Order: sequence, then C-alpha cells, then structure tokens
Amino acid sequence: MTNYKETAEQIIDGLGYDFTNFTLEDFCEFLGQKRGRSIFFLPSEMTAEVDAFWITSREQPFEYIFFDAHVPRFHQVHLQLHELVHIILGHKTQEFDPKYAWLLKEQIRQNKPITLADFPFGSVKRSEVGDPQKEAWVELVTHTLYKRINQFSDLQTLDLKPQNSMLRTILKVID
Ligand SMILES: [Zn+2]
Repeated sequence: MTNYKETAEQIIDGLGYDFTNFTLEDFCEFLGQKRGRSIFFLPSEMTAEVDAFWITSREQPFEYIFFDAHVPRFHQVHLQLHELVHIILGHKTQEFDPKYAWLLKEQIRQNKPITLADFPFGSVKRSEVGDPQKEAWVELVTHTLYKRINQFSDLQTLDLKPQNSMLRTILKVID
C-alpha cells in the first residue's frame, strides 16, 4: 500500500525550501522563482459555495489564487496553502481570460476584496468541482506543509491546525 504520508513528506522535501524563516510571501516567492511564474493571492467576495480557487494565465507568467476574504485569518491561510499545493502538485486549472484583466486591476485598485460577481459568468472561476480523491491528496500535502511550517516558525499563533471538516474527514480516510 502506498504510504501517503511519506509521499507527502517527500514532495515537501523535494521543494528544497528552507522552512526555518518561513513566511507565506517568501515561500510564494521561492515557488514563483522555481517555476518562473509569480503567484498572486486575491482576497475575494466569493459568489457560490467555493471558498478558494486558482486560475492560471497563458499570456503572462502569473498564477492567481482567489480566496474568501471574509473567513478568519487562519482559515484564509489554509485556503491559500491548499491552492498553492495544487500548483506544487502540477495540477491543471482554468486559464484567466485576459479580456478581464482590466476589471481585475480596477478592483485591486479599489483596495477591497475582488468581487467575483462583477465578472461575466464563467470568466473567473475554477473550471470544475475538484475530484474528491485529488482534493483529499491536496489536503494531506497541505497538512504536511503545515506541520513543516509549525516545526520551524512561530506561526502557531495563527492556530494552523487542521480545522475544516474536509481535512478531518480526509485524515480519517487516509489513516
Ligand atoms: Zn482544491
């Protein structure tokens, strides 16, 4: 049987990142440099039952991670790390439609959460509801990433513990 936890550890090790002075910004910078693609987090007003998603740009070396800006900070961090793990694992996602770059910029300029409802339907959203098995795997790798972060930094104050019901369910299933 596959040892999922070990594989997850190997994936994190394989990044070659030094977690001793972890900050989310530094980690994203590192991942971005490794891939030649910048990663942007976009606090958003979500439209439906989705709390975060990632879309990629074909025109520019950018990855956009949209996450619910109205949940507690530690939950936001969880959403951010989850989407980062999708990128780390080389998953595929919908492409950002450059036609709406202006709207995105406009909203960023307003310095408040991105209002996804203002984008034409389907132009800014993930392409499909995630495959549950793939999502379970992402959650396990995210959990492994948390453990690594907690081991070396003082982010414990953010209460970075598996706290959503999905993660609890997944941990039960995989263990
Ligand atoms: Zn996901």
